[in-house]
Amino acid sequence: MNPSAPRLELRHPERHIWEFQTEFGWREQYDCVAHCTRCGCCAQTCPIYQIKHQESFSPRGRNQTLRLVLEKKLNLTPSNPTLIALLESCTLCGRCTQACAGKIPTAEHVLELRRTLHLRVLPRLLFSFLRLRDVRPQLFAKLTRIALFLRRWKAIKLLRVLQFTKIPGLSWLNRLDDMLPNFYSSLDSILTAEEKNLCAVTAPTAIYLPSLEAEFILPQIARRTLDLIKKQQTPVIWRNFPTGLFAYIYADVYQSRRTLLRLMRRHTKTAHGKLPLVTDSIDIYLFLKRAPQLFRNKKYWQIRAQKLADCTRFVTDYLPPVQNTSATSVSGNIRLDSGSLFERENDILEQIRQICYTLFGKNFVECSYTDADTPAFGYAFSAQNCAEQIGLKTVEAIARTQTKKVFVLSGLAALELNYFLKRFYPAAQAQHVIHINE
Ligand code: SF4
Ligand code: SF4
Repeated sequence: MNPSAPRLELRHPERHIWEFQTEFGWREQYDCVAHCTRCGCCAQTCPIYQIKHQESFSPRGRNQTLRLVLEKKLNLTPSNPTLIALLESCTLCGRCTQACAGKIPTAEHVLELRRTLHLRVLPRLLFSFLRLRDVRPQLFAKLTRIALFLRRWKAIKLLRVLQFTKIPGLSWLNRLDDMLPNFYSSLDSILTAEEKNLCAVTAPTAIYLPSLEAEFILPQIARRTLDLIKKQQTPVIWRNFPTGLFAYIYADVYQSRRTLLRLMRRHTKTAHGKLPLVTDSIDIYLFLKRAPQLFRNKKYWQIRAQKLADCTRFVTDYLPPVQNTSATSVSGNIRLDSGSLFERENDILEQIRQICYTLFGKNFVECSYTDADTPAFGYAFSAQNCAEQIGLKTVEAIARTQTKKVFVLSGLAALELNYFLKRFYPAAQAQHVIHINE
């Protein structure tokens, strides 16, 4: 590490990431931005640039902003509305990194700038509530169950009728109410009998870490994941166990590290940290794969984080091998939507693409590099987002190819996409990729 390289906010170094794990190895912040040749190859892949058509909203513009700040040629101030808008509007999708020959991690740069400015991006109440997931997971679980129970009894509808959701800072309740499914059962009820068996497992061979949505909103994902794992392993389920992803995305690296440490300790205690840790969310998967990045200067923990990363599996690893039954039984086109954070092309996506080719043949429609896909992890609730325009563009691409079903790599992204499909193209439906060969 070069101690003289320019850095952001030296007062709280523990709140930042100084070196990023890239395809070309470890790279310091300044080294990364300095490698931007300003070629512009990334611009057309960026969903925000496609909407805004302004240079500062392109990945190149965001990288140059960080470079200017690091070189002390631009003041990082919360009173600059364009600066705040360009930082808040990034979906963190990582499409730009994929298109860039230098694999510059623009999304990480945006997060670094957000951390320096303490930009929370989410509405205050929602932020405080979701933060509990990392800080007080038991309380978070209780409050979420109460909130979902109240929603079932039309509490949010009542708030809407009484126009409470028009109060500034509460409008996200409308969006949330529209996005959540009308009927959902709880994971508790579908796992009651099974959970006793899972708890009684004394020698597990795999750990299932359900995502937030599988835990509270879409338990059928957890159900199906467990069924798949059980064909090859004896799993235990770690209920309501956060990974630190939320804190990471919403600007708190310190808390993110603490949560990850908890996860690593528990993983080490269970069969000496050798068991595969299976997740159903592509965001959690990618985050855990990059966990060593958070412990770069702490060798011992970096090695442990690497072990955790090596043990992390995405649920599609447990899908049974597909036969070449091909498209004959499929009515309508099928599409794949990544909906993930930080990386748009990775081993998992490639694996699922191959499965789609085998299962659906010519009915599988490939996305073009300019096609928008669903922004992940609560982007729709963040300030200055472009969720509505991106959603419309995604639906346009789906309708243009007369697609009937879209498989998405996380339950939250499926919910988000279904929200738009219901409104603009109800002929199609989004589902978690785990249902691909049901
Ligand atoms: S981020 Fe990469 S693709 Fe984009 S302008 Fe810089 S070098 Fe070119
Ligand atoms: S991460 Fe996505 S939204 Fe952000 S600059 Fe890159 S392509 Fe644009």
